[in-house]
Amino acid sequence: MSNGISHLFIPGPTNVPDVVRRAMNVPMRDHRAPDFPELTLPLFEDLKEIFANETGQVFLFASSGTGAWEAAISNTLNRGDRVLMSRFGQFSHLWVDMAERLGLDVACVDVEWGKGVPVEDYERHLAEDPSIRAVFATHNETATGVTSDIAAVRRAMDAQGSDALLFVDGVSSIASVDFQQEAWGVDLAVTGSQKGLMLPAGLSILGVSAKALEASARAGMERCYFDFADMVATNKSGYFPYTPPVPLLAGLRVALDLLFAEGLPQVFARHHRLAEGIRRGVEALGLKLCAMGPQWYSDTVSAIRVPDDIDSAEVCRIGFQRYRTSFGAGLSKVAGKVFRIGHLGDLNEVMCLSALASAEMSLADAGAKVELGAGVAAAQAYYRAALSERESAV
Ligand code: PLP
Repeated sequence: MSNGISHLFIPGPTNVPDVVRRAMNVPMRDHRAPDFPELTLPLFEDLKEIFANETGQVFLFASSGTGAWEAAISNTLNRGDRVLMSRFGQFSHLWVDMAERLGLDVACVDVEWGKGVPVEDYERHLAEDPSIRAVFATHNETATGVTSDIAAVRRAMDAQGSDALLFVDGVSSIASVDFQQEAWGVDLAVTGSQKGLMLPAGLSILGVSAKALEASARAGMERCYFDFADMVATNKSGYFPYTPPVPLLAGLRVALDLLFAEGLPQVFARHHRLAEGIRRGVEALGLKLCAMGPQWYSDTVSAIRVPDDIDSAEVCRIGFQRYRTSFGAGLSKVAGKVFRIGHLGDLNEVMCLSALASAEMSLADAGAKVELGAGVAAAQAYYRAALSERESAV
């Protein structure tokens, strides 16, 4: 068949650039050979730059992002520890579920889906309950397209004199939007390879602060595969406690090179621009985002509410079958109500226009009263203006 490409607009896995795909097609090499650290040591250092983590460490585990959630908890906490969490989408829900299953005593604030981390509620809980050992925050809730203010969470903790550890899920934010592990006082920052890092799933990446490393020496929860101590001992000289996924590491090298060549501030600006064009398009179609206000807008994923009489699963089905476009489905509480456009990773303006064009056709075919072309036109106008403004600023 020579009928062009399929279009991937799910919020991860994202498109893998050709140069990264080719870089992963490598002969296997000896991961205990003397030359292996030449690959790994610079990766460890460069990942610290991605996390903006100067004084801590970044660990790579052969798992999906969920593994780093578990690594973060099991290395630094004890069964029965009191922790503060919030739930406002499928991924924050799953982290709460994991924390409970691992035996933590979870104080969970339930928030309306479409809003994010409830900083004021957190501050109240911290004031009332000095036994809280850890505070959890989902930086970007991928199910609802909601980004939260992590610096504000840290400020609330500081205002209450809390010495709890701050855990942040940055799976769909890190390497796409600004993330400052050290400046925001994040002790454990989680991501995965298949989103902003433009790789297949299979690496979970955990930024750990010096304070969290110290905590791991005392923490009593059982762990083995994910034990920081084994990682620290072997990573020091560029090795792993077990067999690392060498092709993913080779791909990571090139993906990081791409990000640094573009420049992280430029990567973040591009994600903002692409997202803003999608948002303008959604508005022009007369639709609303799941995110309940600009302070929650995500620059990596937009969850779009469909009209009440339309099933968003049908929009996704039509997009996939008729227009070869994959949109993210509505998950759990918002199943049938939203579909998602992932706009992160290896992506540009015209790709986003194609996402909007395909979404318009899929919506119209599913019975929604949208004006074909209105979303695309609004995004085109925005992209033209934003790109010419960027050129004149150079
Ligand atoms: N956290 C967030 C915000 C996510 O979007 C995802 C996956 O999409 C996860 C955690 C789980 O990551 P994984 O599927 O790589 O285990």
